[in-house]
Parts: sequence; C-alpha cells; structure tokens
Amino acid sequence: MINFVSANSIDGLPNVASDLSSAFHEQLKAFNDDGPPSFAQRQINLKKLLSAIDLWEERIIKAIAMDFSCNGLGGRSSHETIMAEIIIAKGDLKYTLKHLKKWMKVKRVSTALHFQPARSEIRMQPLGVVGIISPWNYPFQLAIVPFIAALAAGNRVMIKPSEYTPATSELLREMLQGIYGSETVYVAIGGVEVAAEFSRLPFHHIFFTGSTVVGKIVARAAAENLTPVTLELGGKSPAIIDESADLDLTSKRLAAGKLINSGQTCIAADYVLMPEGKILNFVDKIIMAAEELYPTVAGNSDYTSIISDRHYSRQLDLIEDARQKGAKIVTAGLDSANDLAASRKVPFTVILGVTPDMRVMQEEIFGPILPVLSCDTPEMAIDFVNKDERPLALYWFGENKKNREKILNGTVSGGVTINDTLWHLAQENLPFGGVGAPGMGAYHGDYGFKTFSHARAVFHQSKYSTGKLLYPPYTQLADRILWLLKKIV
Ligand code: NAD
Repeated sequence: MINFVSANSIDGLPNVASDLSSAFHEQLKAFNDDGPPSFAQRQINLKKLLSAIDLWEERIIKAIAMDFSCNGLGGRSSHETIMAEIIIAKGDLKYTLKHLKKWMKVKRVSTALHFQPARSEIRMQPLGVVGIISPWNYPFQLAIVPFIAALAAGNRVMIKPSEYTPATSELLREMLQGIYGSETVYVAIGGVEVAAEFSRLPFHHIFFTGSTVVGKIVARAAAENLTPVTLELGGKSPAIIDESADLDLTSKRLAAGKLINSGQTCIAADYVLMPEGKILNFVDKIIMAAEELYPTVAGNSDYTSIISDRHYSRQLDLIEDARQKGAKIVTAGLDSANDLAASRKVPFTVILGVTPDMRVMQEEIFGPILPVLSCDTPEMAIDFVNKDERPLALYWFGENKKNREKILNGTVSGGVTINDTLWHLAQENLPFGGVGAPGMGAYHGDYGFKTFSHARAVFHQSKYSTGKLLYPPYTQLADRILWLLKKIV
C-alpha cells in the first residue's frame, strides 16, 4: 500500500519524492499488467463517480465553503458551488458517458490506391499514467473535469490539488481513492515542495491548471522527461462593449459574470473597453447592477470571500496602487471596511482613468475589480488587445454584426462569448483552452478524451500487396512503376 503524502511530511522531502515515485510506479505496473480498460469497465468507473458526486454533494459544498472562509466568517456561496463545480462536473460526466463508445471506436480511414488492398485505422489508446495539477479557485471542478477525461480515456491518474484548499483536497483524496483505489487514482496532498516533486515524475502527460509563472516551471520540469503538457493558465481577458450594445443588458450580464466567485475566475472579464461618451452611464448601471445582485457584501452568503489573507491584501493593494497613481475608484455598496476585512471580502470596484503603469493593467486581476477604459472603435479595441499577450477569453457586447466580425477576425483568444461572459466554458461541444500565454491544449467533451489518448496509427498490410515490385535490385519495371506513382500521388 502507498503511504498518503501528508502536508506534515513536507519536512522530509526524500519521503515525499519516494512516496510519489512509489505511487507512480504502482500505477504504471497496474497499467502495464491490466492493459487498457474495456468500454464496459470505463462506463462503470464513470457511473461510480456520478453517484459519488450526488452522495458527496453536501460535503463538497461544505469543504469548499470552509476553504474560502475566514475564521468562520464568509466562505463560498453554496449556489456558486452547485453551479460552477457540481453541475459542470456532472454535465461533463453525463456527456462523456453518452459519447464514450463513439470516441473509443476504432476509426477506419482510407488507404491510398497504390497501397490497396491494405487497410488503415486509428485506435485511441490510453497514454498510461497521467498527472493533473489543479488550482484553488474552483478546487473541485478543475480537478474532476480533467480527471473524468483521463479516466474515460483509460489512464491511471495522479492528482495534486492546491494547498490553499486543504479541506477540498482531503475530500478529493478520500472520495476518489475510496472509489477506485490508489492504483487507479492517487491524490497527493501538500504544498509547493510536493507539487514540484510531482511535476518531476515521468508522467505520460501532465495537465496543469494554474498561473502562467508556475505553468512555465511545470513545463520545464516536464521537458526533462519529454512529458507532453496541457497548460490551462491565466491572463487578462477583455470585455469589449460596442457602440451598438444595450447598456442595461450588458451591465447586468457583465456584473453577474465578474462577481461569480468574487472575480476569482480565470475567464472573468479583466477589464472593459468601450466608447468614451458612454462610460459614465455604463458605470452607473454596472454599479447599480452589482448592488441589485448583492445588496450587502460582508454578511451576504451569496458573495464569496477572497481565498487567503495574501490574496486579499493583493486586491486592496491593486486598488490602492491605482488610486495613488491618479485613478478614480467607484465602489458598490456601503459595507464597512472592518466588516469586509473580517469576512475577507472585496466589494465590486470600478476603476476609471487607468494608465499602463498601474498594476491593474499589468497583472491578471483575479478579483472583483474592473478597470473601464475608453476605446471608440473596433480597430482601436483590436490594437489594444493585440499589443499584449493573447487573452484566455474575449467578450464582445453589441448588435452590429460587422463590428463583431471585425473583433473576431482581428484578435486571437482561447475562447469567446458574445453578449455575455463565461458561458463558452459550459458548452460540452466547445474546446476549452488557451492560445499563446494563457496556455496550450484543450479539454471538455471529446477534446479532453483526445488530450488523454494517443491516436495510434495502425496499417494492416495485405497478403496481396504489390510492394515487392519495388524491392531492389531495381529493374526497368521498378522505373516504370515509380514513373506511374509520381503521376498518381
Ligand atoms: P498556482 O500556479 O499558484 O498553483 C496551481 C497549482 O500548481 C497548485 O496545485 C500548486 O500547488 C501547484 N504548484 C505551485 N508551485 C509549483 C511548482 N513549483 N511546481 C509544480 N506545481 C506547483 O495557481 P493558483 O493561484 O492556484 O490559481 C490561480 C491561477 O490559475 C490564475 O492565474 C488563473 O487564471 C489560473 N487558472 C487558469 C484556469 C484555466 O482553465 N485556464 C482555471 C483556473 C485558474
């Protein structure tokens, strides 16, 4: 049996390395001994998870609330947990169960005329033992959804959840190892030292979700083993409001999307670009929309806390930095600073008059702060977006189709939602992933299945093959055949 790597064993680094290595080799042996699981076995595995999520739902909600709470105050809204963790995970599971047979099917492909009557086919093979490293902001969903894809593809899986969500990480360990055993899924608990050791294992694939800085470290460690990586990273996602947009609708939708999980969402709108003449009207509307959604903040269980003191101070520092450099700060609600601090909550804050030297324009915000910048034409918006790293998500609000197409054609981003935010993530038929700095690779639905599978090329030669006509010593006949082949290929 493998020893569970506890946060307490971090002191003894050699143990961490050897525990992780034993877990890896136990899984690798099981994978090699048992071969790829059948469709029926995978179906059973996925159905077990579906029942477990129902059974554990209350515990999942509680664990995440505990991880986000501050000395018993604040926490994570249970509605957000149901929406963004439970429903998304169950949706992905059901979609996978519905389509898995088709994804696993051996796919016959055509064979060039001069190779016939041979046959060619593609078989989707499990990769072997894969590693998943997940962040704290949606601590259940961002571990479970890649896990579903890896399991459906027939792999053994090791997961390293975030040290910022110890209750959820422990729950994942108990739930997943309880269902499948550590030979199938192993959850490594611990801090950065465990994570670093984890990323050095010779996995057959690493699926990393987290910051760009750590993503680079993981990619470097993986390169040592030539382990392929999927990197789901962050960045600054713009919301572009066209002059044709309905500001009432836009402000409500933007506020709702931004304030889910208090803006601690990788694809939250990071800043707004909009026509100068409409900014003041828009700010009134979006502040009003935020106050309608959350009439109070500190004592409101619908409004999620910031994950840790360090992240909380960072949000306040971002606002203070902008204020000191001359920005105008507009805050929703009337909660007292003491009440907000006690529950580690930051109210919705709009920042106007931002300049490039302000931290809010240099770093991913990852909280309920929204800089609003003036930008009068689609061309200016395209220039603004393209002078920086490619965004993970891009949002466009408006009715003018020509302007919409200009933005879609003139920019590159991981995904797009038109006239709302976030929802491209919830579509099982759409790939979810970044391009450029926000990462590489994609998952959700069959994109996840493909990420965790090897498309193996299989060529069946026929006993009637005429290949021998091209064996040396080359004769005039070979010359004639090659002449013909040059014409037909
Ligand atoms: P993080 O990069 O600090 O941590 C993510 C994971 O990496 C954690 O499990 C952590 O233990 C591990 N880790 C830390 N140091 C490591 C090291 N040296 N080697 C290997 N692993 C290490 O990110 P975070 O603060 O948990 O999450 C916030 C970031 O994640 C934001 O930038 C956000 O945009 C991004 N994010 C991206 C997506 C997406 O789908 N693209 C989703 C959620 C969050």
